Amino acid sequence: LSERLGKAFKNITGKGKLTEKNMNDMLREVRMSLLEADVNYGVVKDFISRIKEKAMGQEVLTSLNPGQMVVKIVHDEIVALLGTEDAPVNYKKSGITTIMMVGLQGTGKTTASAKIANLMKKKQGRNPLLVACDVIRPAAIDQLKTLGESIGVEVFSLGVETKALETAKQAMVYAKENGYDTVLFDTAGRLHIDDELMQELSDIKAYVQPDDILLTVDAMTGQDIVNVASSFHEQLEVSGLVLTKLDGDSRGGGILSVRAITNVPVKFVGLGEKIEDLDVFHPDRMADRILGMGDIMSLVEKAQEKMDMEATTKSTNRMMSGEFTLTDMLVQYEQIEKMGSLGGMMKLLPGMGQLAGQIDEAKADNKIKKSKAIIQSMTPEERENPNILRASRKNRIAKGSGVSVADVNRCLNEFEKMKQVMKQFSSLAKGGKMPNLGG
Ligand code: GDP
Ligand code: MG
Repeated sequence: LSERLGKAFKNITGKGKLTEKNMNDMLREVRMSLLEADVNYGVVKDFISRIKEKAMGQEVLTSLNPGQMVVKIVHDEIVALLGTEDAPVNYKKSGITTIMMVGLQGTGKTTASAKIANLMKKKQGRNPLLVACDVIRPAAIDQLKTLGESIGVEVFSLGVETKALETAKQAMVYAKENGYDTVLFDTAGRLHIDDELMQELSDIKAYVQPDDILLTVDAMTGQDIVNVASSFHEQLEVSGLVLTKLDGDSRGGGILSVRAITNVPVKFVGLGEKIEDLDVFHPDRMADRILGMGDIMSLVEKAQEKMDMEATTKSTNRMMSGEFTLTDMLVQYEQIEKMGSLGGMMKLLPGMGQLAGQIDEAKADNKIKKSKAIIQSMTPEERENPNILRASRKNRIAKGSGVSVADVNRCLNEFEKMKQVMKQFSSLAKGGKMPNLGG
């Protein structure tokens, strides 16, 4: 996903200006990326049209850095799609709160049940009971019992001989008799969805009437996730998601489609095999991850550098044709600064090494900083035509850049000198004696 988007953003940032054409190019890439990341077709369609609407606004078109702007819009849309940050458990006001864990085998139901029970007990002052409703394999019951012991939470089980529904019924009686205020049902999963499993879960649901039905979604799952989530949601009407195994290296783009299909919030996130590895959901961080934000931001920066390079080349070309303005001087100074200090740069130039030694580097760099501030305090008109600079304007500029009027005059003198040099340089070049820089 991120590779595709990266390419798209590279295209858009490299051009320096956001147009309808490069916007459409980018949106095509975003669409492909999301489809490849298993996001449902309808979801992608909505997503793209929302982005287009926002990005085509005037604000973006005139933005100095359209690439970053588009990244932000896409990012914000993903956050909106991922939904709310604060999605607590639906606790009953009074009586026993019941929570049913559902999901495919191996997605992390049992682990999450124990993690959530632990959180409720330690952080929320509740008194939870875990119920082993996965009665297919003895190992599943043992697993829950071991986890329960490690966190000091009781596990209710009637072994593999008793049906899951019957276990659930008796667990509710047991919970009432023993003063538990929260009951978590760990249910069975399958490798694939089947009718028998769904019937069993529906029966438990009908009896228990859970306050929350949490579907575990493995962040590592690919394509399948859409079908799985919609089947569970159709049959059971889940009320929340638990995104597990987010400690893995997948970008977890599947959660986008699950969110869109079920429209229920992610209530918990699993970040490892240990009991403490549980977190609430942070849509913002998740969007970063799905987008591969680190990569994209650095791509945008690179593209920005390229734009700067183009500005430099343009400025150099103008200079070679005999034009030289304060804006060009500013561009040159910025280039010098980017390459390190003036002295440092001169050392790299053949024949300049000795001269560089004679320059007081700190002083030279300081001078450049001052000149930059002075030019930046000028209006575009003043930069193009410094002849209009009279005392009052010079005063304003001096104040604006925190220097004296004498400094402003010195800067302007320097500019005149440089302009003369550029003129001579340019006529030499036009005479064919100098190669044309920058092409
Ligand atoms: P269930 O079949 O749905 O009950 O899944 P389990 O709870 O038994 O988990 C299956 C495997 O995934 C076990 O080895 C767990 O330790 C592991 N697991 C569960 N949640 C996480 C998680 O958030 N991160 C990692 N790395 N492993 C997890
Ligand atoms: Mg299990």
